Amino acid sequence: EPIASLNATAAAAEAADLRVELNQWRRDYYDQDAPKVEDDVYDREYARLVALETAFPTLVTPDSPTQLVGGTVKAGFTKVQHEIPMLSLGDVFSHGELQEFDDRLRQNVTEPFDYNCELKIDGLALSLRYENGRLVQGSTRGNGTIGEDITQNIMTIDSIPHQLSRPLTIEVRGECYMPKAAFAALNERREAAGDPIFANPRNAAAGSLRQLDTKVTAERQLSTFMYNVADYDVLTARTQSEMLTEFADLGFAINPDFKVAKSMADVYSYIDHYQNERPDLPYGIDGIVIKANPLPLQRSLGATVKVPRWAIAFKFPPDEQPTLLEDVEWTV
Ligand code: NAD
Repeated sequence: EPIASLNATAAAAEAADLRVELNQWRRDYYDQDAPKVEDDVYDREYARLVALETAFPTLVTPDSPTQLVGGTVKAGFTKVQHEIPMLSLGDVFSHGELQEFDDRLRQNVTEPFDYNCELKIDGLALSLRYENGRLVQGSTRGNGTIGEDITQNIMTIDSIPHQLSRPLTIEVRGECYMPKAAFAALNERREAAGDPIFANPRNAAAGSLRQLDTKVTAERQLSTFMYNVADYDVLTARTQSEMLTEFADLGFAINPDFKVAKSMADVYSYIDHYQNERPDLPYGIDGIVIKANPLPLQRSLGATVKVPRWAIAFKFPPDEQPTLLEDVEWTV
């Protein structure tokens, strides 16, 4: 039903139903690493809730999925407090919505700036803490403020340096993912062994990283791309794109397919290019992310309770042939 024709009571009832439904799907997805519906189904219902809350702002509750990041800490894991929260990303699904994001930003920023375009890697966020160049802690995003301590697990991932090339004390953030080939081989082995298979590489990565048994993580061929920092002051980089290059110099794996866009036309050609490349990439992507390139601008724009104001994800339509969720038995 069009939102314009709803009265406040009907809108409140629909929003309450959506919150219950979405929060259950979130528990399945984030806490159990076992989604019960496809992402586009979740995204559609979520968008409807956003539209209801925009039309009727008093409907926003603190437990609304529109106000929450991620899931909860899994039993058995030590909790890690993120002093600088790990956030989600706003998302858009069309060029029109992307243009609105750009217009909004340009209205609020007087000086000219570029965007850095990056691939949106379909994995899960992780944070790595280094003291004087030495890796001391790894954690998951969790609910954004409290994540899971996965230090022993990340020590087994080849792409994560134990020692940086400079003795920095820094918290670096990025994505942990399972390459497509590793995912296919893992599901083949599991099928042969009669074990339940994973629905997609994202859930396989999450299920493999959030393991109490470090040996299991070590066998799963996880990889990482780092793309963010809790606090950029210790770096020499002053733009997002320089930061990625500096990360590579420090010893991190970064995704090389980033590009600085001088205009929205450049952004659109980046999108078109990688939408075509997507099937041939060795890892899953579910869209692209554009980020205001200057780091001081990122800092001054800041974030809402849920998403940074200086970045947005452009989501691609759902991937080729998803595994039928009803064929997947859920235990990890
Ligand atoms: P998200 O995955 O849409 O976007 C935020 C995340 O993108 C970041 O936390 C980061 O981990 C990741 N990312 C990848 N590449 C990045 C890059 N280059 N720069 C910055 N970040 C990058 O948001 P979310 O909060 O993790 O989850 C929301 C999405 O999860 C929804 O859009 C939905 O599709 C899916 N979801 C699905 C279900 C389901 O039941 N199927 C349930 C809940 C959520």
